[in-house]
Amino acid sequence: MRQTNLFPKTRKETPSDAKSVNHKYLVQAGYVNQLMAGSWSLLPLGWRVVRNITQIIREEMNAIGGQEILMPLLHPKEIWNETGRWEKAKEVMYQFEDLRHKEYALSFTHEEIFLDIIRKNIESYQDLPIALYHFSTKFRNEPRARSGVLRGREFLMKDMYSVHATKEDFDRFYESVKKAYLKAFKRMGFEVRVTTAAGGVFTENYTHEFQVLAEGGEDTIYYCTQCDWSWNKEIFEKEKYNSCPECDGEIKKSNSIEVGNIFPFGTSYSEKMNVTYVDKSGKSKYVWFGSYGIGTTRVMGAWVEANHDKKGIIWNSQLSPFDCHLIELPGAKEVELTYSKLVDQGLDVLWDDRDIGAGEKFTDSELIGIPNRLVVSEKTKDKIEYKIRGEDKEKLYSRQDIVKLLKDKKTK
Ligand code: ATP
Ligand code: MG
Repeated sequence: MRQTNLFPKTRKETPSDAKSVNHKYLVQAGYVNQLMAGSWSLLPLGWRVVRNITQIIREEMNAIGGQEILMPLLHPKEIWNETGRWEKAKEVMYQFEDLRHKEYALSFTHEEIFLDIIRKNIESYQDLPIALYHFSTKFRNEPRARSGVLRGREFLMKDMYSVHATKEDFDRFYESVKKAYLKAFKRMGFEVRVTTAAGGVFTENYTHEFQVLAEGGEDTIYYCTQCDWSWNKEIFEKEKYNSCPECDGEIKKSNSIEVGNIFPFGTSYSEKMNVTYVDKSGKSKYVWFGSYGIGTTRVMGAWVEANHDKKGIIWNSQLSPFDCHLIELPGAKEVELTYSKLVDQGLDVLWDDRDIGAGEKFTDSELIGIPNRLVVSEKTKDKIEYKIRGEDKEKLYSRQDIVKLLKDKKTK
């Protein structure tokens, strides 16, 4: 697309209330717009990034047998009373009354809603297992919504829920979700730590968090420098380890961002909501239940926290809103042809065709952070200068070669 048409323009000033890097750069570069504390619109660039994140997660959830659905955001009080969470989760749930005095909540999570679907639609062990997921909005009354898109009062999440006939089948699936999460985060380019944690208002069992190491993170984790072992602060301080309990390796402490969380619930929820199936011998039994979340908008913020420099964001090819940024400077020849050759190969190109100075174009390009930058000018003649965001080296290519290089990079 032509940058003259891209909404909005970048801003010279950083937002004055920005306390975190993701807030500063995502607003300045035009990815998001803040409505109020913890409430963000995703603008064209931001929505592109979140769609890229969403698609990777969707593919990995489908690969382990998840089926995509969409659940409502407005919930009756009664369903939350069944598990006692109307009272227990009062602080985080937005609750209100309509004009006829009926009480509702806005979705802060969907365990109860999912289990209601299940109990109305299963009969026997032959109907199990089932794993359903959706990408949708969560509302949470977060007391400190100060970390940009990392902590919204309204945000996007992928949440999957699964029910199983036996503990064994549940355990098998839980491990497959863990692997699928690791694969999804790896595809996105993250190095994540699977961290053992306590379950908060969700469960008394230990849960597993997926943590990205980042200076700007609100969480603290302790991890082994030799193996995969990692525990969150709450549990680590209770156990008081001096070295890794698994391999005796050195333990390090780091700020981190929780990008995903998986919860084994056992049969506690299905007992409260009476979600049963009939087993082979004709006996009625409670289903085994788990839930699995990834905050897709938080993932965007986490990437920015972990991958930026003084000039702006540094995306990778997987998450970037565009495959390449084509910068047109005075005297450039046949830019339209270069653009269409790239587009013909299925590449998403942001073409800076604006009538402004070269300096401003480069500054914007670095702020927006598209990994592949192409420059055409009088100086480059019939060649195209290629540079990767975050690296210093520039190199000249023929049109044919750069198109091939970028295409190969994308399909790799
Ligand atoms: P936190 O401890 O950071 O508040 P949580 O344990 O409440 O997170 P979950 O309920 O497990 O989070 O939600 C699943 C995922 O949703 C989290 O791993 C995170 O990526 C995302 N998430 C949770 N709360 C928020 C929020 N307020 N804004 C944006 N994303 C969030
Ligand atoms: Mg929370």
